[in-house]
Amino acid sequence: MNVYAADAKRYETMKYRRCGRSGIMLPEISLGLWHNFGAVDSADNGEKILLHAFDRGITHFDLANNYGPPPGSAESFFGTMMEKNFRPYRDELVISSKAGYGMWSGPYGDFGSRKYIVSSCEQSLRRMKLDYVDIFYHHRPDPDTPLEESMGALDHLVRSGKALYAGISNYKPPEAERAFKILRELGTPCLIHQARYSMLDRWVEGGLMDLVGREGVGTILFSPLAQGLLTDRYLDGHIPAGSRASKGVFLKPERLTDAMMKKLNALNTVALERGETLARVAIKWLLRDERSTSILVGASSVAQLDDNLLALEGSPLSEAELVKIETILRLPE
Ligand code: NDP
Repeated sequence: MNVYAADAKRYETMKYRRCGRSGIMLPEISLGLWHNFGAVDSADNGEKILLHAFDRGITHFDLANNYGPPPGSAESFFGTMMEKNFRPYRDELVISSKAGYGMWSGPYGDFGSRKYIVSSCEQSLRRMKLDYVDIFYHHRPDPDTPLEESMGALDHLVRSGKALYAGISNYKPPEAERAFKILRELGTPCLIHQARYSMLDRWVEGGLMDLVGREGVGTILFSPLAQGLLTDRYLDGHIPAGSRASKGVFLKPERLTDAMMKKLNALNTVALERGETLARVAIKWLLRDERSTSILVGASSVAQLDDNLLALEGSPLSEAELVKIETILRLPE
């Protein structure tokens, strides 16, 4: 059996940003295991992507109880990788998980009760073969459970040593602000907010980025490539076999309208003029905001991950390029 030895140069090129006003630094690019690491996917390919990521300085892997499919299987796969490859590097890794969406049957396997959040974290630890996660998130707000209860559960997980830090995800500014206050009062300040942000989905610009900046909370931005739309995957209007759009579940083929293709191709022209790919420009565009702690990408191959990592090289986007992009982003989809 080959024993994995991480690349000795892994910290030479990756850049790290401080997560809000905390002691933790996160890589500018982190890797999420929502897709491509479930029991239905190639374990060999998944292993190659994970090891390559760590070899390139990606110290942060993001999971959730329900990632797969089937739900739980991405965490189980990650547990196998912990045992086989990553155990000697545990202290170099920031591993996160979440609870908030439906995970098991009955009234206790969904949303935001203390019972669900605490037992789900315990299940995640067992699947991932970990004693603790670095970050545990409430995955989405629950309108029917008092926020004090959900945040109290995160505080409990931190105090009991099952998580080092608490985070929230998909919270809108008013409820995020309340969550930050409750967590601060409990003595477990919120480390990070995980939110969707890309050139095609800019809702966080309507107050969330200002809030986290003000509160000293970090942000990790998910689906930065709009699940693959902001790459060269669909630029000719064709849906490649095996791509996320071909599966039609989370990325609907209906999104590939003529107007969307026009917009994506206009963005791609900006990228080509820089000698870069659209994916790299989409990541650079997110990194322009210093309140973006980390860009949380997905990848179905090592080549895609490498393409994304190239976003950290070369010059940032110029003012003129940002203006050009802004004009394109106003086009209809
Ligand atoms: P992305 O927007 O980065 O989409 C990733 C997909 O885009 C890949 O699977 C691949 O699709 C395609 N792709 C990636 N890079 C390239 C490239 N360079 N060239 C061509 N195609 C590329 O992010 P995800 O939507 O996957 O989300 C990332 C992570 O964010 C998740 O794994 C999860 O950790 C987190 N997340 C959190 C959520 C939350 O509610 N908190 C919700 C959703 C995600 P293909 O399979 O077609 O090759």
